[in-house]
Formats: sequence, structure tokens, C-alpha cells
Amino acid sequence: MLHLARVNQQTNQIHDIAVIGGGVNGCGIARDAAGRGAKVLLIEAGDLASGTSSASTKLIHGGLRYLEHYEFALVREALSERELLWGIAPHIIWPLHFVLPHAKGLRPRWLLRLGLFLYDHIGGRKRLPTAESVDLAKHPAGRPLKPAFSHGFVYSDCWVDDARLVVLNARDAADRGAEVRTHCRVERLERDEGHWRIETSAGTFLSRAVVNAAGPRVLDVLGRAHERADYGLRLVRGSHIVVPRLFDHEFAYFFQLPDGRIFFAIPYERDYTLIGTTDRDHHGGEPRASEEEVAYLCDGASLYFRTPVTPAEVVWSYSGVRPLIDDQSGKPEAATRGYRLDLSEPEEGAPILSVFGGKITTYRHLAEEAVELLASRLAVLEGDGWTAAAPLPGVIFRAMARLICGTAFRNAIPSSSPNGCFGSRRPTARAHSRCLVRLPRLRDAASTSVMA
Ligand SMILES: Cc1cc2nc3c(=O)[nH]c(=O)nc-3n(C[C@H](O)[C@H](O)[C@H](O)COP(=O)(O)OP(=O)(O)OC[C@H]3O[C@@H](n4cnc5c(N)ncnc54)[C@H](O)[C@@H]3O)c2cc1C
Repeated sequence: MLHLARVNQQTNQIHDIAVIGGGVNGCGIARDAAGRGAKVLLIEAGDLASGTSSASTKLIHGGLRYLEHYEFALVREALSERELLWGIAPHIIWPLHFVLPHAKGLRPRWLLRLGLFLYDHIGGRKRLPTAESVDLAKHPAGRPLKPAFSHGFVYSDCWVDDARLVVLNARDAADRGAEVRTHCRVERLERDEGHWRIETSAGTFLSRAVVNAAGPRVLDVLGRAHERADYGLRLVRGSHIVVPRLFDHEFAYFFQLPDGRIFFAIPYERDYTLIGTTDRDHHGGEPRASEEEVAYLCDGASLYFRTPVTPAEVVWSYSGVRPLIDDQSGKPEAATRGYRLDLSEPEEGAPILSVFGGKITTYRHLAEEAVELLASRLAVLEGDGWTAAAPLPGVIFRAMARLICGTAFRNAIPSSSPNGCFGSRRPTARAHSRCLVRLPRLRDAASTSVMA
């Protein structure tokens, strides 16, 4: 379990970096910095991943639709991170194949072909298969669709257990010496003789540098430090609905809507289908899927599936807020999904670096850039990036299990399942837990209880 130290009121201990925000970006930055030898403090107001990072569509993807907005650099960066992240976390990230049905009146077939060709070639794809066109009259993914969708394409991206990705980054940061404090809200920040004095709901801390990775609250935290923001933020709510399983194959769907938007229908937790997302400007308060959004997603899915999807079937919905850079785009879905890092000027004193925007897919690269930017002001951070080749905790689990238990254990885990789902609440993981009871020490070593 993550060691959550008792509240420390002492202010004589100075951290190198205090990272505010236990989402994917904050935990990624804490991990990277701790691995370079910095004394790191990670402060999270609620629970790890309690913000946007557990409310995503859970895709590690380049973002096929961003090509339409000419965001080639972002797509290239995200695509090259896609296989890299799969490599360092194959137990919580795995390939997902998408069916993109085509019909008259939607984007022309040549445009889809061109987009998919670029998608296959600009990001260093190595292990995922290339896109191909399919005859939906014969393909298993065609069966649940209306007969009008007789043709389509199949392309690949990856799926991620988003909250576990966050927790495993925090776990690894803690293993490398970071102090992780949850339920600790930053209330005020002040520069004080070359360092930051950070007042929180759980005491006061000192740090040479601050990283503001508060996601949708980044401007709020800057305000608490009496700092100006160089970028505006556009808060865009995205909602998902979960309905009983709509199909019995393993493909996901990428659907186009008449308003030009796209959304996904994805196999979820074995018995369900996850449908989303929406894009709505969010004006504060806890994000929740509105009735209008639920109806929009049901109507969208019903355009494609033979059996209509109704709001009455929705068993769960969740909603998150994207902290997007305000690039003055008209529609919320057109706002850039890229990120910017904003570092205070040297003459202002102790540095504060703020994170604007970003995606789960780009968190590792963002963290590396953030730490390298801060290294110009904090010598302890100097050194080469290391996270691209360092597996997240738990990756060696299957290999170790095979080594220790041999064939009996190997046969108990279907090859299609993620490597080690320990600590996860996935039903498949529960099914496998019978095997784990024979491995108590191994399970402890893998620190599986952080999500329990
Ligand atoms: C609907 C939706 C779908 C998405 N789908 C995808 C996808 O499929 N793939 C993808 O790559 N990206 C996706 N994204 C984007 C991605 O989820 C976000 O960009 C990412 O999670 C942002 O992470 P973060 O760490 O910046 O913010 P957050 O996860 O919000 O973390 C910020 C943390 O800061 C904490 N905090 C705030 N104020 C304070 C304070 N004063 N003191 C201490 N802590 C504080 C919060 O509690 C929070 O936990 C999606 C986003 C949404 C909304």
C-alpha cells in the first residue's frame, strides 16, 4: 500500500519539487523526477486519479479525428507514445481493434483511407496491425449493425485502465522515494527566501520548485500562488454511458455522427458496452452526464445498431472535464488536445511550472518535458530521460509467476487477458484471484493493494 505519512507540520524539511495534482500528469512528473534523484512531494486534494484521469474514454491513441484539425504533430507524438506505453505497461494497456463503418453521406471513403494511411505511417507503428477495409456483411462486427453499413475499415489503437495507470505511476514514484499525500488540498502558496511555502489542509511544506498539475483547477492553483497565467483554459465536459453488452465480439466501434462528431462504442468489463463521449463547454460544478447528453449518445448509437439504445438501459454514466488550452476554437470538439508547459521567469524567484491541457496518451512525454524544463533551474533534475524504457510496477508479474509456479499457473490465465491484473477490480482479475492466493509474497511484492 502507498505509504501515506502522518501529517508533518515541520517546515524545516525542504523538498526539491512539490507536485500539485495526483492525476496522470502529476503522478507521471513525480515519477520521472523521483527517478532522477529529486526529493519529491506529491500532493493530491482527493484520491489519486479522482479527477479527469479516471473519467476518460480509456484509449491510448493517436486521435484519428485530430488529423482533420491538422494536428499532425500531436497525432505523431501520441502515436509514438502509444506503442511505447504498451511496452512499459502491457498489464494495463492492450491493443483494441476498431471498426469504422462507412455509409453514403458520411466522410467519403477516400478521405477515411487517406486518414488511416497517415495514421499507420506517421507515428512509428511497429507491433499494431495496419488498417484494412472490411466487408461488414461478412465480418463479425457487421452483425449488430444496420444493413446500410455494409462496408468499413478496421484499425488499431490501445485500451488502458486509466486509474491504474495513475496509481502505478504514483506507486513507482513512492518506490523511488517520493512522498505521496492524498486528501491534502493546497490552499495557499507563497515564495519565501528562494523556496515555496505551501499551505495545505494537512500542514505546511517547503519546496524549491512547484509543479502545478491540477488539471481543470490549474488556474485556481495559480491564483493561490498570486501568479498570472500565460494561457486561458477551456473546460470541456465529456460524458460516457454504460449499457448492457450490445455485441459479443471483441471489436470496438468508431462511429461518425451527422453533426460531424465522432464517438466510440467499446466492450467494457465483459458484460457491458461503454459509449462516449460528448463535448460540452463546462461552467463549473461537479461534472455529470445531463439528460440531453445521455439522449444524444443513445440516439447516436441507435443510428448504427439494429437494436436501438435507450436511456432506460443506461446502468451507469460518468463525466469528466477536459482542461483544454483555449485556442479560441468555435466548437468545443475543435479545441486543441495538445499541451503547453508554462515556467515562471528566473527573476520571479523559486520556479513554478504549470501544465495546460494534455492527454493520458501523452502523459509520459509531457512529464519528461516538464522535468527537463525544470532541470534548467534545479540541478538535481539534470540527466537523461529514463521513463521510456522503464516498466511500470507489476509488468514482470506473469513472467515471475511462470517461473515460480510453472505451467499450472500459466494455464490458469487466458492468453487474451492482460498480463497481471492484480489489485484491479476487473471481473477477470477476480476470476483469476483463485490463482493468486497461492502467491501471497509475490502479490505483496507487486503492491497490489493501492486500489483496494
Ligand atoms: C471525457 C474525456 C475523455 C477522454 N479520453 C481520453 C482518452 O481516451 N485518451 C487520452 O489520452 N486522453 C483522454 N482524455 C484526456 C485526459 O483524460 C486528460 O487530459 C488527463 O486525464 C488530464 O490529467 P491531469 O493529471 O492533467 O488532470 P486530473 O486527472 O484532473 O488531475 C488533477 C488533480 O489535481 C487535483 N487538484 C486540484 N486542485 C488541487 C489542489 N488545490 N490541491 C491538491 N490537488 C488538487 C485534483 O483533485 C486532480 O486529482 C479524456 C478526457 C475526458 C474529459
